[in-house]
Amino acid sequence: MAYDYDDTNIFARILRGEIPNDTVAETEHTLAFRDIRPQAPVHVLVIPKGAYVTYDHFAAEASEAEIIDFTRTVARLCNELGVAPGEGGAGCRLIANSGPHSHQEVPHMHMHILAGKPLGPMLA
Ligand code: 5GP
Repeated sequence: MAYDYDDTNIFARILRGEIPNDTVAETEHTLAFRDIRPQAPVHVLVIPKGAYVTYDHFAAEASEAEIIDFTRTVARLCNELGVAPGEGGAGCRLIANSGPHSHQEVPHMHMHILAGKPLGPMLA
């Protein structure tokens, strides 16, 4: 399977420093910043620094170091934001829209962290 990465997408531009962002965490392989149109009191986007279009692309082609860094950055952030259920927080929703039917708007793999209020059931 070939994945075509469009390096003009908005998150690629954020990673190149061409567009400002409200960074909440940065590691060697991962960047996290607040969503510009928050859908909940806490709405953070976590992205790999590598050029991956979708979650399956990331899972297939990222190195183990990138995948571990990404996964643990998501968990550490949830903890730091006070929403990790295992650390006494009230919980969070993690969403990675992937591909056209998911309504993925930005073609750079990302995980939404949504939290800060009861979110209700997922809608179709
Ligand atoms: P998707 O629908 O692709 O899963 O989510 C993309 C998210 O990126 C949306 O929630 C949208 O608000 C956010 N977004 C789009 N452009 C920007 C931007 O320039 N800066 C930030 N911080 N978020 C953005």
